[in-house]
Amino acid sequence: MKDLKLCALKNNDNKRTVIKVGDVRIGLDFVIIAGPCSVESEKQTIITAQKVKEAGADMLRGGAFKPRTSPYAFQGLGIKGLKILEKAKKETGLPIVTEVIDPRDASWVCEYADILQVGARNMQNFSLLKEVGKTDKPVLLKRGMYSTLSEWLNCAEYILAEGNPKVILCERGIRTHETYTRNTLDLSIVPAAQEVTHLPIIVDPSHGTGRLSLIPPMSMAAVAAGADGIIVESHYKPCEALCDKDQALDPEMFRDLATRVRSLREFMENLDKERYDESKFIELI
Ligand code: PEP
Ligand code: MN
Repeated sequence: MKDLKLCALKNNDNKRTVIKVGDVRIGLDFVIIAGPCSVESEKQTIITAQKVKEAGADMLRGGAFKPRTSPYAFQGLGIKGLKILEKAKKETGLPIVTEVIDPRDASWVCEYADILQVGARNMQNFSLLKEVGKTDKPVLLKRGMYSTLSEWLNCAEYILAEGNPKVILCERGIRTHETYTRNTLDLSIVPAAQEVTHLPIIVDPSHGTGRLSLIPPMSMAAVAAGADGIIVESHYKPCEALCDKDQALDPEMFRDLATRVRSLREFMENLDKERYDESKFIELI
């Protein structure tokens, strides 16, 4: 892959990128992003935000624009959803991670988002990548469900080439012949990506498995694989979720998961002090 000469690839100095969002240094501190699949109402979003914050989340996720398989499924609240996220941020202080699906929306969605998410279905939407690349917001770039590491890194490159160095990769499962799980969470991509790129990489075990019972163990496995964080779906009343209800952690489950994940990460940091040595990182503002 070295012959590709991508900016996303590591240099000889082996430094890794750190992206600062609020108090969290993504790529150095372990980041936990949690929240509903979609913003459904002010009540749902704010209660969920408060619950995940109390349980130890660093950031709130929630889609206002939803890329749905069916055109008849709930498509998100759009601008109204973004305003609800703004309110949730004001109430909890949690930075907002939200998806942008249309290149025409990238610049103004920045007014509400602390991190712009590009979803798996849009990983190779090159016009969208160029537009988010023109913003100054960090971009959470999900791996496309059929893409190789090289294709994924080329998509990150589209963003970097526009002048935005703040790309966070996110493994969210790929399509395989397995049907028991929603996708096959490819955790080997975490150390593989870290061998070749300096960009941070986090894991989404919610879309990666689609099964509540599998999210906690795969979150722990993500930590053990060396991921820089996780993004998980949580809802204050999962049975009422309009989107992805089968993978929504209730506040109790999320609290338990966050506690276990943090303690495993601490263990890992003690185990491998050199790896987490701050001098190995480049700080980005
Ligand atoms: C999401 O995070 O809500 C989402 C739609 O994820 P993905 O793009 O990974 O399917
Ligand atoms: Mn979802």
